[in-house]
Amino acid sequence: MVNDTSSDMAGGHLRVDLGALAANYRRMANKISPSSAAAVVKADAYGLGAGPVCDALAKAGCRDFFVAHLEEALAVRATLADDARLYVLNGLMPGTEAACATAGVVPVLNSLEQASRWRDLARDLDRPLAAALQLDTGMARLGLSPDAAAAIAGDAMFFHHVPVDLVMSHLACSDEPERASNADQARVFAAMADLLPRARRSLASSGGAFLPRDYHGDLVRLGLCLYGAAPREGVGPLAPVVSLDARVIQVRSVRAGEGVGYGLTFHRDAPGAIATIGVGYGDGWPRALSNKGAAYYRGHRLPIAGRVSMDSITLDVTGLVERGIHLGAGDTVELLGPHQSLEAVAHEAGTIAYEILTNLGRRYRRTYLETPMPDVDDSLLARSGQP
Ligand SMILES: *Cc1c(COP(=O)(O)O)cnc(C)c1O
Repeated sequence: MVNDTSSDMAGGHLRVDLGALAANYRRMANKISPSSAAAVVKADAYGLGAGPVCDALAKAGCRDFFVAHLEEALAVRATLADDARLYVLNGLMPGTEAACATAGVVPVLNSLEQASRWRDLARDLDRPLAAALQLDTGMARLGLSPDAAAAIAGDAMFFHHVPVDLVMSHLACSDEPERASNADQARVFAAMADLLPRARRSLASSGGAFLPRDYHGDLVRLGLCLYGAAPREGVGPLAPVVSLDARVIQVRSVRAGEGVGYGLTFHRDAPGAIATIGVGYGDGWPRALSNKGAAYYRGHRLPIAGRVSMDSITLDVTGLVERGIHLGAGDTVELLGPHQSLEAVAHEAGTIAYEILTNLGRRYRRTYLETPMPDVDDSLLARSGQP
């Protein structure tokens, strides 16, 4: 499979393991039970392909899905069963109300202004239009202020037109369990939600899923951890979902002192060998890994030599040559896989796994693997993950 012609035509091969994705969903759902597990599939399921990801998660039992924009919702609505709920986190942009209602998508109302436009449409259509309400509990990003929430709470007619099935907020520091803001936000959330008619409550995302139970509410919105990356160090285990191989275009020898790549920023003290692979920052591989990151071949680390280019990266493969291991044009090296995790790449590039994932390019050949994965003993997760 690795050496077939179609894979030769692209510079890299991205494999998305839907069995691992489903296993992560089941594991997390188990962990947070009796709270329910929702899937966050915004940004094309963090770059992995919202269609196949939604299918696999629905089969694993997921019934609640979140995207950021209405456009993303429209792209996946048809792939979801009618009884699946699909929420748009950024709410209701002016002029999109009718499209949102027609598609049966549930907006997360973030302001009084969004709320009144949705209520007006429900009144005009003379049918109830469901919504979620987002409460700003101390992140100053999206959501109703305490005053705005109190104003809605006092407006019984609003709930007549707009049945609210979910009240949510978002933690600013859920990846830092020791921060006092987490408990502060949970307290404000409970107080604000208590003023509103009863609805499911949701405060936690992947980070919050690894906080104590009282953060889980009725529904946990899981993104990153479903895609196989840990929201912070020391929690897991999660099954890796993505692997990425890059094709070797050329291997050449370099003289001592010969400059490599843009800016000639890499030189070897002694003669050596450089392999050029067909993945670069145009494929989402961080340019920050210039002279820093690595690829792997049969477990050997091949350091990035020089700057990451748009379509290629040069690797110092002298160590392979010295060990008598052949590497030639058409061979593949590992960029993400058993030797190099998303978290490790993100750490080395000075960013977060979210950014590496969502930047994964459209230029790769993509394969979706559907191998079923046995569920791992949940006590493992509890031991390493439960604070
Ligand atoms: C993106 C997002 C999530 C998912 O976050 P993860 O850390 O990937 O689990 C949940 N809730 C909101 C409001 C989000 O914007």
